Amino acid sequence: MDVDPMLSVTLLGTGSPMPDPNRAGPATLVSAGGEHYLVDAGRGVLMRLAAADLGAPDLAAVLITHLHSDHITDLNDIVTTRWVMSIEPAPLTIVGPVGTKAVVAHIVASLAPDIGYRMVHHADLGHPPPVEVVEVEGGPVRSFGDVAIRCGPTDHKPVQPSVGYRFDHAGASLVVAGDTVPCPGLDGLCAGADALVHTVIRKDVIAAIPIQRLQDTLDYHSSPEEAAQTAQRAGIATLVLTHYVPAIQPGGGDDWRQLAAAHFDGRIELGDDLHRVEVRPT
Ligand SMILES: [Zn+2]
Ligand SMILES: [Zn+2]
Repeated sequence: MDVDPMLSVTLLGTGSPMPDPNRAGPATLVSAGGEHYLVDAGRGVLMRLAAADLGAPDLAAVLITHLHSDHITDLNDIVTTRWVMSIEPAPLTIVGPVGTKAVVAHIVASLAPDIGYRMVHHADLGHPPPVEVVEVEGGPVRSFGDVAIRCGPTDHKPVQPSVGYRFDHAGASLVVAGDTVPCPGLDGLCAGADALVHTVIRKDVIAAIPIQRLQDTLDYHSSPEEAAQTAQRAGIATLVLTHYVPAIQPGGGDDWRQLAAAHFDGRIELGDDLHRVEVRPT
């Protein structure tokens, strides 16, 4: 992938907890100013990153929205692969809600045998994977070069805490909401932003399936209609839908687009894994 000074978003994984042969787990790549930021690290993330001509050593930071397993299932792969594929020590910065430090410590602990084997076998790997975890609740996260990142609380209860992230670069701004119902924290993060990436589930479809465990998921996700209403309230220009439940057939999704368009005047983007959207100041 060429270095692109613009702000762009690539849907690396548009899937959900349900394994799908066509859709990797939740993961969104934000690229700005020649740097790359990964939001969530679901199933198959490094395969999709490779398809975008990038690898674990190329990530400026990994940002986690919440600790649901489908959003972090391949975090261990990033930790290990960055470690063994970096020639020089390359600390991995992981940003996430409170609780992320403990989860990452457990991930690294689970890798102890592998870390031991590799350190014995490769004389130049004289250290375990260097990982720095930054726990956030709201407000500025950190500036990476000329990309400012901040976060705000979302509402994915009983998953607590959960956060969304906003990226501002060269006059353009993008919010990645993660899993949430409409809430003031997300509204605040979206105010004045140009684009919003929002996870969605079809509540009309799921509500008709008589399986209690599916029904349970209705109250902590947004529908395409609700995501559209959030975008409309904030004056967002481009709404990007991802994390489709149930999975959209490859190339499909017109019905999802229509549901959102009834509540939102702007541009609606959805698609298959690796769908890329450029974000420009509006
Ligand atoms: Zn979740
Ligand atoms: Zn999810």
